[in-house]
Order: sequence, then structure tokens, then C-alpha cells
Amino acid sequence: MEPLKETQLYCPFAYIDGSWVAADGGEQISVYNPATAEVVGNVPRLGASETHRAIEAADAALPAWRAMTAQQRGDLLLKWYDLMLEHQHDLAILMTHEQGKPLKEAEGEIAYAASFLRWFAEEGRRVYGETIPPAKADQRIVVTRHPVGVVGAITPWNFPAAMITRKAGAALAAGCTMVLKPASQTPFSATALALLAERAGIPRGVFNVVPGTAGEIAGAMTESPRVRKITFTGSTAVGSRLMAQAAENVQKISLELGGNAPFIVFEDADLDAAVEGAMAAKFRNAGQTCICTNRFLVQSSVVNAFCEKLAVAMHSELHVGDGEKDGINIGPLIDEAAVRKVSEHVQDAVDKGAELMLGGHPHPLGGNFFSPTLISAAGPEMRVASEETFGPLAAVFPFDDEDSAIEMANDTRYGLASYFYSQNLARVWRVSDALEYGMVGINTGAISNAAAPFGGMKASGLGREGGHQGLDEYLETKYLCMDIS
Ligand code: NAP
Repeated sequence: MEPLKETQLYCPFAYIDGSWVAADGGEQISVYNPATAEVVGNVPRLGASETHRAIEAADAALPAWRAMTAQQRGDLLLKWYDLMLEHQHDLAILMTHEQGKPLKEAEGEIAYAASFLRWFAEEGRRVYGETIPPAKADQRIVVTRHPVGVVGAITPWNFPAAMITRKAGAALAAGCTMVLKPASQTPFSATALALLAERAGIPRGVFNVVPGTAGEIAGAMTESPRVRKITFTGSTAVGSRLMAQAAENVQKISLELGGNAPFIVFEDADLDAAVEGAMAAKFRNAGQTCICTNRFLVQSSVVNAFCEKLAVAMHSELHVGDGEKDGINIGPLIDEAAVRKVSEHVQDAVDKGAELMLGGHPHPLGGNFFSPTLISAAGPEMRVASEETFGPLAAVFPFDDEDSAIEMANDTRYGLASYFYSQNLARVWRVSDALEYGMVGINTGAISNAAAPFGGMKASGLGREGGHQGLDEYLETKYLCMDIS
């Protein structure tokens, strides 16, 4: 492992009420490098009792944090932002070691993650209220906005930093405090962020990090009446369970869940641009993002040409290996189970008649590496049509006309990201309207941006992150009705 310039960024502790702590019983989680299977380090495995302490700390810190001006809170978030960029390379090294994504991509994630702190630092000053024309002459109606209170946040391993700042930036800017449980496979990115938050001057108790046993921590969060909001990014199965748990105390909830993104290529598309977009939308993070294309839907008249061009691009541009090495742009998958799932999806598709054009097997490097794979002639009965593969498998489904493309695209319980390529302006509007997705990339495969509302419809979740909408998730609305007679 390339040594960190600043070794203190490697923090093998939990962070509660401004203190770096171990688990009460000393239990630990071992974190492995998915490229080498070596142990990166250990963090404490916290449970319910430590989580309750973190919630108490967040609750105690709330009045003073809430009372600060938005500008004061924003200034602290901007310092946190600056520190993230100052330590971008070290944070990226930590991320590559625990998550596997190539170092360049990890550096990109750190910049993207930091951008949420900056965005919300600025956006927090624009939490406007409203005055409403009254029903009677001697009445005044004013609407004010207030932080919801203590937030319980749970994040996944695929974006170990950005999924944290997208929540914490918004919550802290709004005046909320937070207890965060990071994914057990990538806790070091979270504890490094906590160290930088501490250095930025964010007061103790405002941002707490509790790695540990998910069920116990989530149970403590949802059973505590002090926690007013749960925000979760991860699988739909866990998200819907959390939603049921949050119902007990009627906690507000935001859910960023799984996807099954279609990428539609119409015959009027610029095919070279579509292939370039396809590479970006499919292979980032080795295919392990919630907005990665899961299904390429390609019009029959251009399907052969598209597949040939995509095969050439995949063969020449994708380099599999340890993300720490130069020139690598496809790292390992997160674990053995992920490799198994991709293998099963390929085998299932081939058994049901798909044509294997490239790859189709674990990579010769072994371990968690999988060869970029292209299959054509995929159909709706295959698992890849309905399940998120979360790996470097590009599956191409042919279609005949616009109506059938839209029907196929919407034929899923998910509704997170979608993409399509067309140069016909009328079609661009028709298809954009018809897609039941929270996000639509039109002639682009890269849609993430701190200024835009990220989120999904249907089983892909509730609420939005980023944009000015991202702040609303952490604000309560209060209406004042005054008699002035
Ligand atoms: P996951 O298994 O749902 O895990 C996500 C987080 O939930 C982890 O911190 C995990 O903790 C925790 N968790 C596990 N069981 C839990 C329980 N019973 N109660 C409460 N929390 C629990 O998902 P994943 O496999 O890590 O992440 C991949 C999924 O996330 C994909 O479906 C992907 O599409 C989705 N995702 C969505 C977005 C979005 O913005 N919509 C972004 C990124 C990822 P442990 O690590 O300790 O198990």
C-alpha cells in the first residue's frame, strides 16, 4: 500500500461526541482490500449501547448547532470541504484499499464528495420561508423552515465518501446533527472524514460515526424518539425493512435504493457518442454503482453495429487489475459474493439463449476480479433483465420501435437512473416524459452533480439528495397564523 502522507487519516476508531472510541466489549470488524485480500485494518464493531450514546451526544449538540446562523455552519462546512481537497490523494488511497476502485476514480469520488459540502454550505443560506396572502384582512400568514433534529444515516460501500457527504452536507447545513453508520466493508473513509470534520471545527456531537453491527445500530436509531429522521442508501431489501422500523416512531425517511437502469439507443442516435456514453454509464466502479446501466436496449436496425463498436471499446479501453497500479480502470469487485452474482447472471443469460461476445468469466488474475463481459440477444426472461447485476456485465436487448423500447425500459420495479441516445428532438421529449425514472441522461452517460436532485421512483426510493431539494429532506415546515386585529 502506498503510504499516506498523513498517517493520522487512518483512524481505526469510532467517533462519538468528539472522542475516538473503541467498542464497549472490544469487538472489531476486519476490513479487507478486495484486490489483494490483505487486511487493511480493524475498526470497532459497535452495537446498540454505543449507538444510544452517540444519539444522546447528537441530541445534546443540537440546540447550539441549530442556533448558529446558516453562514456560520456554512463556513465550517467549507473548511471541511477545503480539508477534503487538501487530503484528496490520501483519502483516495484509503478508499482504493478498502473499496478497490482505481486510484484516479477514487480521487474523482473525493472531489465529488467534497462538492456536496460546498454546495450545501452555500445552499443553507437560502432556506427561505414564505408569506401567504391571508384569508381575512386582519390576518398574517408566515411559513418558516426548521431543522428536523437528530438524523440517523446508514451508507453503502460503493461510494464510501460521497454517500456520506451527500447526507451530512445537507443535514448539517440545515442545522441537524447526525449519527452515521458506514458500510462495514469501507469504514476507514468514514472515520477519515470524521477526523477532517473535527479539524474543520465542527463541534463535538454534531457528526458521529458508529461502525458496527447493522441490525443493532439501525434498531437503536429507529427505536429512539430522539432520532427524527432516517436516511439510508443501499439495497431495496434493507431500505424497505428500515422503512417499516421507522414507522414505529413515525420518523421521516429518505431512501436511495437499487436500480435497473435502461440505456436506450435509437436508430437515429450518434452511435459513437452512444458507445462513449455506454462505457461511462456501465463500467464506472467496475459496474458497481446504483446508476450503472443494467440493460442496453438497442434498436434492431443498429444493434449489430452498436455491439461491434462496444466490443472494440471494451477490449481496447478497459484494463483490469489492482486499482493502485497505473493504467488500471477496472478494479476488483467488492467480494466473492459479487463475483458469484455476475457469473450467475452470465450463465443464466447464456443458458437462455444470449450470445456471449466478450469475457463471461472471472478474470485470470483470480480473486475478486471479473472480465468485462458483453452479451447480445438478451431477453426479458433472463435474470439480468430484472435484477441489478452490480458488475462489469453489459447485456444488450434488441427492440423494434419506440413504444416497445419504453415498455421494456419501464418494465421493472425500479426507477432510479435511465439513459437514452437520440438526435430526434421530438422523440427526446416524448421519451423523457414516458420514462418512469427519477433521472434521465439524454445523449450522456454521466449524470451525477451536487447541484441536481439525485433519487429514484418506485422501489428505487423516496426523497432526493443534492440540489436545493436535498435540503428539504432535513427541514420541517412551520406555519404561523397571526391575528392583527
Ligand atoms: P446493503 O446491504 O443494503 O448495505 C447498505 C448499508 O446498510 C450498509 O451500511 C449495511 O451495513 C447496512 N445494513 C445491512 N443490513 C442492515 C439492516 N438490517 N438494517 C440496517 N442497515 C443494514 O447494500 P449494499 O450491498 O452495501 O449496497 C449496494 C446497494 O446500494 C445496491 O442496491 C445499490 O444500487 C444501492 N445504492 C443506491 C444508491 C442510490 O443513491 N440510490 C447509491 C449507492 C448504492 P453492513 O455493511 O454493516 O452490512
